[in-house]
Amino acid sequence: MLHPPHQSLPVTAIPAIPTQRVPTRDSEVPWHTEAVCRRDEAGLFFAPSKEPTAARLSREQAAKRVCARCPVMVECREHALLQPEPYGVWGGLTAAERRVVLARRRRRDVELQKSAHAVTRIAAAG
Ligand code: SF4
Repeated sequence: MLHPPHQSLPVTAIPAIPTQRVPTRDSEVPWHTEAVCRRDEAGLFFAPSKEPTAARLSREQAAKRVCARCPVMVECREHALLQPEPYGVWGGLTAAERRVVLARRRRRDVELQKSAHAVTRIAAAG
């Protein structure tokens, strides 16, 4: 049954609030099959041995520009953080940047655990 715009919808027609991230890509397809870097120069993402600092910084910036237009950047970054991948540019982050993100996440998890313990103690004290 159709409802004119001015008429309120029955309660059952109100859509549920999504609890998961709205997919921006076909989740049936493995994320890496959509990786832009599959078509780009692979050498851009990993350092050759004894790479001078200036060359490394320039290469990493070029790799990050590729990542910035990649449709699976979020999935790639999370993969690299969860593994964790110790080398190369993944998801627009260098290995050093990923170490910083991981350290922040560990600190955040510790703070959350402390907060949860404090709430539990307060609740137990009644
Ligand atoms: S985000 Fe970067 S490293 Fe990851 S798949 Fe895309 S282009 Fe490759």
